[in-house]
Amino acid sequence: MGLDDIRRRIRAAEQQAGRAPGSVTLIAVSKVQPAARVQAVLDQGHRVFGENYVQETQGKWPAWRVRYPDVSLHMIGPLQSNKTRAAVGLFDAIHTLDRMTLARKLAQHCAEQGRQPQLFVQVNTGDEPQKAGILADELPGFLRQCRDLGLSPEGLMCIPPEGLDPLPHFRLLRRLAQDNGLALLSMGMSADFETAIAEGATHVRVGSAIFGARDYG
Ligand SMILES: *Cc1c(COP(=O)(O)O)cnc(C)c1O
Repeated sequence: MGLDDIRRRIRAAEQQAGRAPGSVTLIAVSKVQPAARVQAVLDQGHRVFGENYVQETQGKWPAWRVRYPDVSLHMIGPLQSNKTRAAVGLFDAIHTLDRMTLARKLAQHCAEQGRQPQLFVQVNTGDEPQKAGILADELPGFLRQCRDLGLSPEGLMCIPPEGLDPLPHFRLLRRLAQDNGLALLSMGMSADFETAIAEGATHVRVGSAIFGARDYG
């Protein structure tokens, strides 16, 4: 547990997969974590963080951004259309582009603000009816429509179904990225980031294994 341990495990997984050291970006998922824990990770020199909620991010990150201008913030939670303007202003990357209405809003607000956050399309690899994300079959058409709007998604993201082996989902996401000419893969969390790295993850999203359990109370 802790940042050093996760960094070591990422290096080992990169090496084992024959991948270059540093080819995997660790996104430290700081949602709901107390400020002191986030500060401790900043003190250790880490600068890439993931958040799930626009409002929480607006409340806690602007002050840290002033002190640590090289911080980069990744939106990894579901993004409501009415929060798009704020999200474009706050985040360096958005991992949850999952529907056309959001793509249209993103195109509009990126143009208005002159910003280009890195974009990942969320794929519903388990075909789960309650889960956000584009279905695998619909991905090529969705990407085409995004490009028609002037957006340039660079990668794919997935959250495999709870309680199932994530491996086939990571493999599917990798294949879809290859088939569609996308370089980035956002996959792997605290419980399975090493498996994701073996399958080609470029971005892993690790929260509780760095910061400890989240207390939603
Ligand atoms: C919260 C969250 C994570 C981090 O989960 P841990 O199990 O704490 O590592 C990763 N990805 C997404 C999309 C999340 O919402």
